[in-house]
Amino acid sequence: MNCPVCGAEHFSVPGGGKAAPAGERLCPYQGVPYTGLRAGHDQIYFGRWRRIDASTIDLRRAYHQLERLLNGIAVALETEDIPAARSDLGKAVEALHTAGPGEDGPEALRYLDHALSYAHRVIGDLLHEKGLPPHSPADFAGWYDAGEVPFREDW
Ligand SMILES: [Zn+2]
Repeated sequence: MNCPVCGAEHFSVPGGGKAAPAGERLCPYQGVPYTGLRAGHDQIYFGRWRRIDASTIDLRRAYHQLERLLNGIAVALETEDIPAARSDLGKAVEALHTAGPGEDGPEALRYLDHALSYAHRVIGDLLHEKGLPPHSPADFAGWYDAGEVPFREDW
C-alpha cells in the first residue's frame, strides 16, 4: 500500500504496521517541502535492495524507484536555477544507467548507491534554495522497516 500523501510505502505509524488512531498523523512527510521527493528518496534508502539477502527483484524495484525519483527531481529542477544541482542530477542519471535495470552484483549495487547519493545532494540543494536544512533520512527511519537493515556502510 502506498501512502496517499507522499506516494511512498511506509508504516502508517512509526515503528509498526498497526493502523494509526483516528486523527493521528498518517504521513511523516505531510506539510514538508518536496514531500514526494523526500519520501521517494527514503523509500529507496530504507529499501530491501540494500540488505545482505536482497533478491534480483529487490534490485530491479530499486532501479525503477530511482528512475521515478530522478524524473521527479528533474521536474522540480525545471523551475530552479541551480547549476550544481543539475550537474549532480546528470551524475545520478549516469550512475543509474551504468547500474542498468535487472543487473545485480556488487557493481550494480555500488552504482545504484551512487545514484541515490547524488539524488540526496540535489534534494539538499533544492531545500537550500528555500533556506531549509538538508533532508535527513534518519529522522524518518521509524516509519520504515529499517531496524533490521544491515547497511553495507563499507561501500
Ligand atoms: Zn507518506
